[in-house]
Amino acid sequence: MPGNVALHTRLADVRDRVARAAARAGRNPSRIRIVAVSKTFDASRVRSAAQAGQFDFGENKVQEAQQKRAETADLRITWHFIGHLQSNKARKAAALFDVIHSIDDPFLIQKIDEAAGEAGRTLELLVQVDLAGEPTKHGAREEELPAIFDAAGPCRAVRLSGLMMIPPTSADPEGARHWFRKLNGVRDRLLARGVDGAMLAELSMGMSHDYEIAIEEGATLVRVGTAIFGSRPPA
Ligand SMILES: *Cc1c(COP(=O)(O)O)cnc(C)c1O
Repeated sequence: MPGNVALHTRLADVRDRVARAAARAGRNPSRIRIVAVSKTFDASRVRSAAQAGQFDFGENKVQEAQQKRAETADLRITWHFIGHLQSNKARKAAALFDVIHSIDDPFLIQKIDEAAGEAGRTLELLVQVDLAGEPTKHGAREEELPAIFDAAGPCRAVRLSGLMMIPPTSADPEGARHWFRKLNGVRDRLLARGVDGAMLAELSMGMSHDYEIAIEEGATLVRVGTAIFGSRPPA
């Protein structure tokens, strides 16, 4: 199928670029995971990417992911939630996802921990940080982060593993670099406050147009959609 060939070619290209960006930064490429953002694409595309060895997938809608997950239940996929999580969807998200990148509230951590515990699942959570204070973006402000990390302390079914960020849009990918550096700064200040390093091991940053720069700046999870699956219909 030509569609599969195109997808496999694009995926190989992304992997190659990830490896080269890691080499430029003197980083071990095995510390960088590509999350293939499959939102709007159907389960057959997920299956095709999995055939090429891609097992981390990102979705931003709970309902859409539920169906895709059911249709690919025979595959060993790690599902990442990267959209805004409303608290009334926390229970469902805890049942469907393995990693949630968009925690921005201590209450959400408690809800997910409770639901995951009841479902006998364990989840990894990342805290989404809002650095630019854009009204249209979600995420916690830096001053809210200590309370969020404190809330994760007593949790049993979830663990915090790092930070996520979506930088303000800029036409030039280089424009994102200083935002990526700022997220490193946030991480360093949390470490200096005594937050456990294991809770800050991951930096989820970089999308199709700027993931190479994100890797140069320390990303461990890059969320790549278009560059793997092709362009999406306008939302
Ligand atoms: C859609 C989306 C991506 C992927 O975007 P591309 O530009 O297609 O790579 C990454 N992160 C988040 C949070 C998204 O919503």
